[in-house]
Amino acid sequence: MSVDRNSTNWCGWGWQASRYDFKGHRDYFLSWIGARLGVDALHTSTPPVSPESIELPATRLTDADLQALSVAAGGADAMTTAPRARLLRALGRSLPDLLRLRRGDLPYAPDAVVLPASEAAVAAIMQLCREHDWAVVPLGGGSSVVGGIEPIDPRGRPVISLDMTRMCAMVSFCPQDRCATFQAGIYGPDLEATLAQKGWELGHVPQSFEFSTLGGWVATRSSGQQSNQYGDIADMVVSCRVVTPEGIVATWNGPVSAAGPDLDQFIAGSEGTLGVITEVTVHIHPKPKTHKINAVLFPDFALGSAALSDIVGAGLRMSYMRLSDEVETETYLKMSGPKLIQDMGLSALRVLGYGENKCVALVGTEGDPETVDREVGEAMAIAKRHRGLSLGGGPAKNWHRDRYMHPYMRDDLLDAGIATETHETAVPWSRVAAVREDVRASIHSAVKAQGLKAHVFAHLSHSYPTGTCIYFVLMYPVDAKDSIGQWKPIKAAICDAVVRNGGTISHHHGVGLDHKAWLVHEKGVAGMKLMAAACKAMDPTGICNPGKLLDT
Ligand SMILES: Cc1cc2nc3c(=O)[nH]c(=O)nc-3n(C[C@H](O)[C@H](O)[C@H](O)COP(=O)(O)OP(=O)(O)OC[C@H]3O[C@@H](n4cnc5c(N)ncnc54)[C@H](O)[C@@H]3O)c2cc1C
Repeated sequence: MSVDRNSTNWCGWGWQASRYDFKGHRDYFLSWIGARLGVDALHTSTPPVSPESIELPATRLTDADLQALSVAAGGADAMTTAPRARLLRALGRSLPDLLRLRRGDLPYAPDAVVLPASEAAVAAIMQLCREHDWAVVPLGGGSSVVGGIEPIDPRGRPVISLDMTRMCAMVSFCPQDRCATFQAGIYGPDLEATLAQKGWELGHVPQSFEFSTLGGWVATRSSGQQSNQYGDIADMVVSCRVVTPEGIVATWNGPVSAAGPDLDQFIAGSEGTLGVITEVTVHIHPKPKTHKINAVLFPDFALGSAALSDIVGAGLRMSYMRLSDEVETETYLKMSGPKLIQDMGLSALRVLGYGENKCVALVGTEGDPETVDREVGEAMAIAKRHRGLSLGGGPAKNWHRDRYMHPYMRDDLLDAGIATETHETAVPWSRVAAVREDVRASIHSAVKAQGLKAHVFAHLSHSYPTGTCIYFVLMYPVDAKDSIGQWKPIKAAICDAVVRNGGTISHHHGVGLDHKAWLVHEKGVAGMKLMAAACKAMDPTGICNPGKLLDT
């Protein structure tokens, strides 16, 4: 297993020992962002409390309960109530999760943690929880950013955190069918390393790749950075096995079926509310021989957006295709520090029309060299028709190298009193401009209502012929006295603006606790009833991740 949870940052992202590498420009960037927000970020220090100072509520399970749980889980080392084990599974990695962890604000934690090593152990735990009416929260990497793993039950029952990460083996590999089956608790790097030994890959690389699992990806309908080429995780699932309180659901393992609704598509996105996904068969492909990514500059966001739409509309499956808006473009430039030569180059471009509103895009793909050259060439020709100017491969190389490092910066900014929140949605191409304007304006006014300033930017990624995902990032000064009370109206303003413009409440982060109130806008009242009925059929007493996705 590539991740030992004990070596991860208990109140932030990734490895405990890793920090964001500002490459010597930390002070420059903090001064710049501080000036944008009207605060002195450079001289602000708001470190987290020490984890040892946090007092978790005592477990509500008796010794006899714990004994029964450890027998079901497979032995004494498969069950724990150790404070650190409970703390590390008490919250995900959303902004409010980090704010609460850093303050030591943990009114709840799992009553026990179980770490089964087999599907039989998962089934035994599920059976025991059903008998005792204990809630079960399936846990993968714990990287949820929507309140997906909070160990709370609206009915107040004890909560067991069911950590799947010991179930991390490859079960079968069939290159002839282009399929491999894995236990669901396998982390991204382990899955890809196992396939790479055989010359194959899955190609699902969310930014959280290193710290998230196959089961978590399926349960949240995750999207990877190369989804344009390989699809979202739901497109890659061929079949799966789910342990529910009513027994095991094993979906048909084959290419396509017209035999009724597709159960895999119902399980994908169920967020632990149907049961525990134990095994997944995925569609794999031979490892690509090469990749090529170009950076392209557009005079403005509208032209860049039209280019991306035309590239995907032409059937070019660019595995890397991402357009930063003008504020994100500027922010990335500032993150790389003062650069005299770069600044001179950009000034020269101003006269050609690439001024204040310029936006940078990354366009590229992977595969065999001939196809890559041809497809990137065709995509660049389309970009050129929209006044896209090639900047070559240099900037893209840096992005590719650092792509898993950016989340670490959130912790540095929180240390300096600045919150970073993200929200993503998907809309048809025709609504991209409207949703961007409305979400940006709504954030600025929600933060202004608190007497503060926000820094807001967005990018397009995960594009489809019919529309695209738009991903927002906002930064604002943290109100140390009530950081959660401060966050709530900002989050609500974003969600309201998204649904007002016909966007989905989530393109890939999922629903959890945080987006639940807005789900009905997309599913409708009858659709919500259908989902609730399916959950009730598999989980009549509502023990599976209660309160997430749906009200239970
Ligand atoms: C810095 C950062 C970057 C991110 N980038 C991306 C990104 O690029 N793309 C993306 O899609 N998401 C991204 N996310 C969100 C998150 O990583 C995904 O939702 C991911 O799929 C969660 O996987 P996990 O294993 O960590 O699941 P967890 O966080 O442990 O669980 C998430 C949900 O799935 C359920 N679950 C987990 N395992 C199982 C199982 N075996 N059976 C049933 N239910 C289960 C949980 O109960 C919970 O509801 C990011 C998050 C962070 C913090």
